[in-house]
Amino acid sequence: MGVHPYPLKFAPVFKERVWGGRALERFGLQPPEGAIGEGWMIADHPNGTTRVLNGPLAGKGLDEIRGTLGREWFGAKGFSERNGRFPLLVKLLDCNDDLSVQVHPTDDYERLPEGELGKTEMWYVLEAKPGAKIIYGLKEGVGRAELEKAIAEGRIMEVLREVPVEAGDAFYIPAGTVHALCAGVVVAEIQQNSDTTYRLYDYNRPGLDGKPRELHIEDSLNVIAYEGAGAKHMKTDGLRPGEWLRIAESPYFVVEKGIVDGRAELATSGESFDILVAADGSGTLRWDGGELPVRRGDCFLVPANLGAYALEGSLTALRSRVP
Ligand code: ZN
Repeated sequence: MGVHPYPLKFAPVFKERVWGGRALERFGLQPPEGAIGEGWMIADHPNGTTRVLNGPLAGKGLDEIRGTLGREWFGAKGFSERNGRFPLLVKLLDCNDDLSVQVHPTDDYERLPEGELGKTEMWYVLEAKPGAKIIYGLKEGVGRAELEKAIAEGRIMEVLREVPVEAGDAFYIPAGTVHALCAGVVVAEIQQNSDTTYRLYDYNRPGLDGKPRELHIEDSLNVIAYEGAGAKHMKTDGLRPGEWLRIAESPYFVVEKGIVDGRAELATSGESFDILVAADGSGTLRWDGGELPVRRGDCFLVPANLGAYALEGSLTALRSRVP
């Protein structure tokens, strides 16, 4: 297929969740009725595949693009014959209520479902209500036995670490880190392309079907990194236009935050695509041959073989690639 590379924008796949809400409407999206918790913005997964909205590839799924153009468009590091999927999954999450307390396995967990990977992820906080917090790891010194005992005695919350959050905070959540987003935050999530979640605790509440959601205590206890897995979080304000601050770094993705005031010259190298998430502001994405408007909440896949491109306007952008 002789298609010239160009930045792709996708139609999101929306997921109703017991903890969801309507906040994604504030990001220019039109989710269906209901409590919408997740907008899968760039996805190539059996549980959700996004389709292109713009240009010659409009209507094609990211899985089809992988099959025909993946080698050139995803780049030497972004394309894997072995994994057979786009390496990352990009979501916007509206946490209108608390998410379950959960943990994700690493790639080498022996009880992973067939074809699934582990999941290392990062969050960039787009909005946070005053007093909002998240659950981020176990309290200092809590090991498997103590956690198991706390679960059995119905007091798991006592051994979890709570961290206050504000818009602009970035959290790196390597596989093995216990975590939960809590009510009142909207985040952009960049993660390994996996949907494997082990639930430790769900506040004893009913799911969307009225029954409690399944817990996975044994798997959770097996995959938790009790000594820590390198979880890190940071404030990202005070950036000057033109600077790109590295806000998460893993074997699977590197995420940088930049402020654009005027024009920022960027480029892909052939090694990896760039994923752009517009965290705030508005502007234009320009390349040799075209342009697209950029608004808060927009996500783009910029092909590895595009080369030079630019962001113009007044924008806060996240830029992710495979290292
Ligand atoms: Zn998670």
